[in-house]
Amino acid sequence: MGTAKQNKLLKYILIGCAAVILILSVVLCVTAVKNKNLKNGGSAASEALVSASEERESLEAARASEAESYQNQLREQSSAFADEKNALNQTIADLNKQLAVKRAAEAATGAPKPLAPGEYPDWSNKTIYLTFDDGPSPRTPEVLKILRDNGVKATFFVTHISGKSSHYMKDIVAEGHTIALHSYTHDYDKIYASEEAYFADLQQISDLVYSETGVRTNLIRFPGGSSNIVSRFNPGIMTRLTQQVTDKGYVYFDWNVVSGDANRGGATAQQIINNCRKVSKKSDSVIVLMHDSAEKRTTVEALPEVIAYYKAAGCKFATITESTPPAHQRVAN
Ligand SMILES: [Zn+2]
Repeated sequence: MGTAKQNKLLKYILIGCAAVILILSVVLCVTAVKNKNLKNGGSAASEALVSASEERESLEAARASEAESYQNQLREQSSAFADEKNALNQTIADLNKQLAVKRAAEAATGAPKPLAPGEYPDWSNKTIYLTFDDGPSPRTPEVLKILRDNGVKATFFVTHISGKSSHYMKDIVAEGHTIALHSYTHDYDKIYASEEAYFADLQQISDLVYSETGVRTNLIRFPGGSSNIVSRFNPGIMTRLTQQVTDKGYVYFDWNVVSGDANRGGATAQQIINNCRKVSKKSDSVIVLMHDSAEKRTTVEALPEVIAYYKAAGCKFATITESTPPAHQRVAN
C-alpha cells in the first residue's frame, strides 16, 4: 500500500511540475510578444516626430527666403524712389535758377513800383485809343473779354494772317469795337512792290471784312506804319501811297505810344506795361499800338494793368473814327 501511495503522490507531483512549466512558458511568450509590439510602436511614433520636425524646418526656411525676397524688393524700390527724388530736386533747383534770372532781368528793365492812388499822373485831358494790329487771332476772344470786363472799346486793324480766325471779326463789331483795315497778306515784299499791289491787297481785306461783318470801312493802317523803311526796296512808295490813299477817301492812322509787344525778341508783360506809361505830355489824343496774334501772350497779360493805369490817371477811352487825330509819323520812304 505504501508504495502505491508513493507512486500516486509522485505522479501528482510530476503533473503539477509540468503544469507550472507550461504556465511559465505561456507567460513568457505573452510577455515577449508584448515587448516586441511596444518596441515597434515606439519606433513609428519617433519616425513621425522626425518627419514633422523636418516639415517645420522646411516651412521656416521657405518663409525666411520669402521675407528676404520682399526685403530686397523694398530696398530696390526705395533706391529707385530716391533716384527719382534726386532728379526732381535737381529739376526744381534748375527752375528756381531760371526764375531768379528772369526776375533779375525784369527788375533790370526798370519795373516801376506800384503807385499809391495820389501818385498817378493827372491825364484827365487825354483820350486813349487802344489799337490792335494783325488780328483776328486765336487770342481775340481773350482780348475781347478783357475789354468787356473793363468796359473799354478799342480799334482792331485786321488782317487775314490767321485765316481761321476771321469769324472773330463779327464778334469785334458786335461788342462795339471799331474794325479797320491793315492788310490781307501783311507780306511787305508783295504789298509794297507797287501801288497796284498795295491797293489790290487793301481791297482784299476790305472785302473780307465786309463779307464777315457787313461793315465797309475807310479807316486804315499801313503794315509797318506810314514811316516804315521795310518798303525801301521800292523807293518813294510810301510817299506816293500816303497821298493816294487820301485821294481815294481812306484815312490812315499811325500811333504815338508803342507797347513794344512787336519788338524783336518779344516783350515781357511788365515791359509792355512800362512802355504804355510813356505818354507824351503834349498829346491829348493817345493812340497805343498793340498786337492781337497767337504768339502775343504777354500783350494779353499786360492789358488789364495797362487799362487800370490809364483809368487811374483819369483818361477816357474811345475808338478811332475819321475825325480822330491820326498821329501821323514822318514818311521815311
Ligand atoms: Zn501789322
